[in-house]
Order: sequence, then C-alpha cells, then structure tokens
Amino acid sequence: MGDDMYDSIVIGSGFAGAVVARELSEQKGQKVLVLDSRNHIGGNCYDKLDEYGILIHQYGPHIFHTNIDRVYEYLSRFTDWYEYQHEVVGNVYGRELPIPFNLNTLEMVYGERAPHLEKLLIESFGEGARVPILELMNHENEELQEIARYVYENIFLKYTMKQWGKSPKEIDPAVSGRVPVLLSRDNRYFQDKYQGLPLHGFTPIFEKMLDYEGIEVRLNCEAKSVLAISPEAEHPVCFEGQPFSGNIIFTGALDELFDCRYGRLPYRSLRFDFEHYQETFYQSHGVVNYTVSEDYTRITEFKYLSGQLEAPDTTIVKEYPMPYSGAEGEIPYYAINNPENDELFSRYKALVEKIPNFYLLGRLAEYKYYNIDAIVDRALSVAEEIK
Ligand code: UDP
Repeated sequence: MGDDMYDSIVIGSGFAGAVVARELSEQKGQKVLVLDSRNHIGGNCYDKLDEYGILIHQYGPHIFHTNIDRVYEYLSRFTDWYEYQHEVVGNVYGRELPIPFNLNTLEMVYGERAPHLEKLLIESFGEGARVPILELMNHENEELQEIARYVYENIFLKYTMKQWGKSPKEIDPAVSGRVPVLLSRDNRYFQDKYQGLPLHGFTPIFEKMLDYEGIEVRLNCEAKSVLAISPEAEHPVCFEGQPFSGNIIFTGALDELFDCRYGRLPYRSLRFDFEHYQETFYQSHGVVNYTVSEDYTRITEFKYLSGQLEAPDTTIVKEYPMPYSGAEGEIPYYAINNPENDELFSRYKALVEKIPNFYLLGRLAEYKYYNIDAIVDRALSVAEEIK
C-alpha cells in the first residue's frame, strides 16, 4: 500500500471499529490507526465503575444477546460472561406487567377471559409465535383487535411518542416489531440462545481487542482534524495533509463528515439522568418501562445487569428522549428511518461510494439500527472483504 504509515484508518472505537481493527491487524497483519473523538474507547457500549463502585453503562443499558454462534465465540475470546437473563416490566398505572406482552401478561390483564383469548391467539398465530403489534391490530377477529388495542394503548403508544415524537403507526414498523406480542409464558425480553453481560463489563473487551500489535489508538481526535475527504479530487482521501490510499473504515455520522452539505440527517438523542440511592434495591427488575406515564421512557437499575446484587446501595438511570440537534456534547443514538431520511442518507452514501477502499459500518455510518451481535457479525464480514 505505498508509503502510507497505516494500511487502514478506522474512525470510531465502538464494536464496529474495534472488531474491524482487531481483525485487520490479527488476520491480515495490517497496521491500523483507530481514531475516536471521545476520551475513551468502546463507543456507546462504554461502561465504568461509578463513584459508589456500581458498574454503569454511561450511554444507556446494553445487553448482549445472539443466536449467531460465531459472534458468541468471537466475543468469548475477550470476556467471560455473567449469565443474566434480561426481564422487563412495564409500569402501567402503577401495576407491573411483563414486557413483551406475553401469555402471562394476558392472564394478568384479562383474568378469567384469558384462557379463551389465549386459545384464539394460538389458533390464529401458533404457539410461541412473535406477533408484531401492528399486525395484531389488523386482524379481523374482534376479540384479537381488543387485545391489540389494549397492548397498543398501554404498552406502545405513549412510550413510542416519548421515544420518537411519533406514534407507532407513523414510524418504521421494524421498530415496534422488535418487541412483538409473544405467544408463550417466557417473561424474558430476548429469547436468543446466548445472552448475558460481560463479566467485568464491556470496556475491558475493547481494551483487550485493541491491545494488539499493529493497532494504534488516538483518543480525543476528531476525524476531520486529520482526514480530508474530497470525493471529486484526484486524491479523495488525505491524512495529515498527505494523500492516503489505504482503507478507511468509517463508523461515525456521515452527514457530519461532509459538513451536512445536503442538510442534517435526523437522529434521536437521549439525556441520561443517573441517581444513586442508599437502599439495596430501587425497583423490581433491571429495566422498568414507563409505558403510560412520566417523561422518561425507562429506568435501568445497573446492579441487576452487573450482578452486584450484594451491594448495599444502588445506581439507576432515567432516559429522556429528545431530538438530536448537532449541538456540542449531544450524541446521536438512533437513526430515524423513513423514506425521506433514507433518501437523504443515500445521497451522502453516494459521495463515498466513488472513493476506493472506503467502508461504512455501524448504526451511524449506515443509518440503521444494529444490535451488538449484528454489528459484530457485520464487522467480521467487512474485515474479511478488505484487502
Ligand atoms: N416500545 C414501546 N414500549 C415498550 C417497549 C418498546 O413502545 O415498552 C417500542 C418503542 O417504539 C421502542 C421500540 O418498541 O423504540 C423498540 O424497543 P427496544 O426495547 O428494542 O428499544 P431500544 O432498547 O433499542 O431503545
């Protein structure tokens, strides 16, 4: 690759960037530079002990779950696991109901009518089925419609209005489809074959992944301060003023790389309010969703996730959704996928498609939702592709 000091430059050190960097150095013997604008590695999966010794997720709760063997095996090279099975309840007018809405929830809500309704649901969709709420609402049977209306109004409508500023009918159906009505008595939030939390947190995974010969990490480094990307120029990529012909793996927000020249790509952001209590437990489950009340969407109590169940006190976080404005310090968390925004994204994508060896990877750069396992899987594939 000519005289370049690095074979590849990776922008971002979350799972997308860290896995690619590790694979390119370990499998292909490359020299890799990883840039991150923050003062730490790990992206939004970064976690740390707070001042009370509780392991907190600074950017909101992340729970690992997967059915993909190679992803579980790959991550298991870097960590042991705390075998946590995530359960969520919704606080519905003060009463706690299992989420996803399942056959246990049905029984709690409908009492004596539940066996009849359960039979109807199973006849229509099959035992164990995962039925998206929007699909259930379209069912012709009136009693099933009644259940759907209950679930829509008590679980989805207000939570989604808070989270997205729009109703579930107005947003990408894939979003509400992540939390289907579940025709089983399994109260877990995820049904994957593997799930858990890294035994000592996510951050040590990133430390181990990036601690490898050939990988250099620069923190507090805005990509734009060292990289100039000009798709039309003879040298479309310059690094520290010199033409760079190696690989660029970009995991950041693509509009911002181009100074939002076609306008801002819309994202949702969040504000996290952490609170500490001198009591053993604050709530009944790791996550409680506030589906009909409050301005926050959910409260996470971290000791359930970290397994610090013996700790004498506890730390929680409340999540307040908000639009992403691009202001200093705000973080874009979720792409807002709809035809108009996806079209705008494709204009930005077209800018880099002309540049050889330029790869987009991750939630921000690909403007789509990824779970941890899906992005690790994708990053492994992209690293395999790269020369
Ligand atoms: N959702 C909801 N009520 C809930 C849980 C989820 O309305 O109690 C909807 C909401 O629109 C949310 C989406 O389902 O954005 C996906 O939920 P998930 O828990 O996957 O969101 P994430 O953890 O990615 O924020």
